[in-house]
Amino acid sequence: MRALLEVVLTIIAIVIARAILTSVMRGFVNAGRAASAPPQAAAQNAAPQQNIRAGELHKDPVCGTYVAESTPFRRQASGQTFYYCSSDCKEKHAVLAR
Ligand SMILES: [Zn+2]
Repeated sequence: MRALLEVVLTIIAIVIARAILTSVMRGFVNAGRAASAPPQAAAQNAAPQQNIRAGELHKDPVCGTYVAESTPFRRQASGQTFYYCSSDCKEKHAVLAR
């Protein structure tokens, strides 16, 4: 009798846990949809500004790639500013310049 009671209690616990999990997962999905909407709108608003910045391109002296002026990989040497596509190219060019 005790074993049967334990089995029934276990089944009830599983059913309750499943119901809670399902409702929590639905809550996450809804929260995800709500949270993902505003950033998309913000990205669309930010796009024109990025296009203006991307118009200012500089040639990477190492690999020849054209790089936006906003790149974090840049170096000033002998009054010139060099722009690089990556930290690898920046380091290569710095070594070559020595
Ligand atoms: Zn490069």
